[in-house]
This record gives sequence, C-alpha cells and structure tokens, in this order.
Amino acid sequence: MNDELRHEWTLEELRALYDTPLLELVFQAATVHRRHHNPREMQVSKLISIKTGACPEDCSYCAQSSRYNTGVGAERMMDKCQVVDIATRAKAAGVSRVCLGAAWRQVKDNDQFDRVLEMVRSVTDIGMEVCCTLGMLTENQAKRLEDAGLYAYNHNLDSSEEFYETIITTRTYADRLQTLGNVRKTGMTLCSGGIIGLGESVKDRLKMLKNLAAVQPHPESVPINILSKVEGTPLAKAADVPVWDVIRMIATTRLVMPKSDVRLTAGRVKLDATAQGLCFLAGANSIFSSETEFMLTKAVPSPSYDADRALLEALGMTLRPAFANPNSPRAAECAASCERQETALGAG
Ligand code: SAM
Ligand code: SF4
Repeated sequence: MNDELRHEWTLEELRALYDTPLLELVFQAATVHRRHHNPREMQVSKLISIKTGACPEDCSYCAQSSRYNTGVGAERMMDKCQVVDIATRAKAAGVSRVCLGAAWRQVKDNDQFDRVLEMVRSVTDIGMEVCCTLGMLTENQAKRLEDAGLYAYNHNLDSSEEFYETIITTRTYADRLQTLGNVRKTGMTLCSGGIIGLGESVKDRLKMLKNLAAVQPHPESVPINILSKVEGTPLAKAADVPVWDVIRMIATTRLVMPKSDVRLTAGRVKLDATAQGLCFLAGANSIFSSETEFMLTKAVPSPSYDADRALLEALGMTLRPAFANPNSPRAAECAASCERQETALGAG
C-alpha cells in the first residue's frame, strides 16, 4: 500500500478503494494507520454548546436550525466559568480536546466573539486543546482566534458540492471552502469532514473526500458523522446507514488522508462495541464523549465517559494526551509553550 500524502485523488481511484472487499479494505487501512499513528491511542474530545439554538441557517439535519420545530430552543450564551468547569471535569475524565460550538451562521465582531476568545484562553490555560466550530470566519477573525491560542477550527464540508445544495440553501459550498482557506492562512489546525446518511450517494461521499484531500496540508482532523436523525428536521426519516458503509467510509478516509486524525463522531452511539472496534481498527482514532450523554444538544445523543472508558479498556486502548499528536507541528509548539508556562509557574 502506497501511503504518500496525495492531494489529487481521482474519483475512480477513490471508488476502487471504497469498493475493496471489506476485510481487505480494513486490513489495508489498519496497515497505513499503524505507520502514522499509535494504533492503541484514542484522542477523546468533549463538545460544549456555548450558544445553543435559533440558528438562521436551514441545514436539513440540524436540531439547532430555527427553521425546524425540534424542541431545541434558543439559550443565552454560556459564561466563561461554566465552560471552564465543564472542561475541567472533562480533563479529569481523560478528555484532551474541548470543542466550543455555537449555533451561528458566521462569527460577528461583537462582544460575544470577545467572550469566546476569553473562553479559548482560559481552557487552553488548563492544558487542553481547544477547537471552535462557530460557522463561517473572515481572515481577521481566524487570526484573532489563533492569537487567542486556539488549537483547531472545525468547519465541515458535509458532502459533495452537488449534494450540499440539496440539504442547505442558506449558504454555498464555496462559502465553506472560503472559511477553510481563511483558517489555513493561520497556524491553527483544521478539522473538516462531513456526514453520511443524508440520502447522498457513494459518489457524493467520495467527492467530499476528494475535496478534503485537496486541502493543503490535509485537514489535521476529519470528522465522519453518521446522521443523527432529529424529529422535526427534514431528514428525521432518512434511511439508516448500514454499518458496513460506516466502516468503508472510515477506512477509505484513513487511506486517503493517512496522517489526519479520523474522528468517529455523531451517530457513534448507534454502533455496538464490535462495530466501533472495527472502525478503530480501520483507522478511526478520535471520538467525542460526554458527561451528559448528549453531544451538543439533547437532540443528538453521545456515549458517556464511563461507557467509553469501559469500551477503550476492553479494546486495550489508551487516551492520547493533549498536544501529543505526532503528525501535527502545532501540537509540538503548543506542548512546548505549555511546558514553558508550567516551568515559569513552578519557578514563580
Ligand atoms: N454552526 C456551525 C457550523 O455550521 O459549522 C457548527 C455546527 S455543528 C456543531 C458542527 C457539525 O456537526 C455540522 O457542521 C455537521 O457536520 C454536524 N452535525 C450537526 N448536526 C448533526 C446531526 N444531526 N447528525 C450528524 N451530524 C451533525
Ligand atoms: Fe446552524 Fe451550524 Fe446547525 Fe447549520 S449546522 S443549522 S449553521 S448550527
């Protein structure tokens, strides 16, 4: 298996990978995975919804869109100490990354953004990787997040460009690519992936991987969500994703972007332990976990810290500490600055 980092995959090549006989595909992905990652290590993240509900966008899958009657109402923005409390408990549970999510179309240069920057500084100060997923960003806003010490920015492409237009009409794929470009102009790491189970074709899934792999360098983290069906949204009755499709998607993502963290994210709660184990063997090396048994909102369930600890133990897996990603120069930089800070505090 040739696992050089490539940015110009053809759809034919991707289809040939995806259609490989399943266990052979898993074996190939597992082989490449071990060459670039510690196969026994799992990076665990915790999502915190710092601003929930009343989003003006019409993403057909989303519990937080104001267009749909999902029971997820608008909540005021969290304050910093609430976020630091949750993050501190998450760290004690072995979580190394906190993802601050806001139900926004885009960031606005206002006091709410200033408060997010404060949250980024405070959670980074407790020695955790911080990711934000706040919608679309300008170049200057990306720079301000970087200056605040943000480790990663999440902005998903969700699917192919053609299919994207059928599930979201209030913005374009080009808008999403623009934000990826703005993040790439900083030293922050990029988290970008998508969702399967929206009604897309395999071709759409592979076009998404093709677009993600075209980003230079590859996104350091690629979330593969399985649609979590939310009552009240247009996709509430979508067909289930066969578990074999999930495993194929994880394995193909691993082969296409060998050094990236492949994150098995929304919808993992629906997979049994064996299916999750096969996904980890095929190269998924990052998950979300939670103390509240839901991800961002009550509408999208998540496995709990305890359930995940038991699963990872049964599989003989350990937790990857913060800033320990061997494939990310930013991780080394942040680890060094944490060390300097600790030494300075220790000397003080
Ligand atoms: N408002 C920000 C944005 O749109 O980028 C953050 C949205 S959400 C916290 C981050 C990602 O979670 C979305 O981009 C989408 O890919 C995924 N997501 C949201 N709802 C989902 C659902 N019901 N099932 C699966 N994935 C979902
Ligand atoms: Fe809004 Fe993001 Fe949900 Fe879309 S995915 S409705 S932009 S919170």
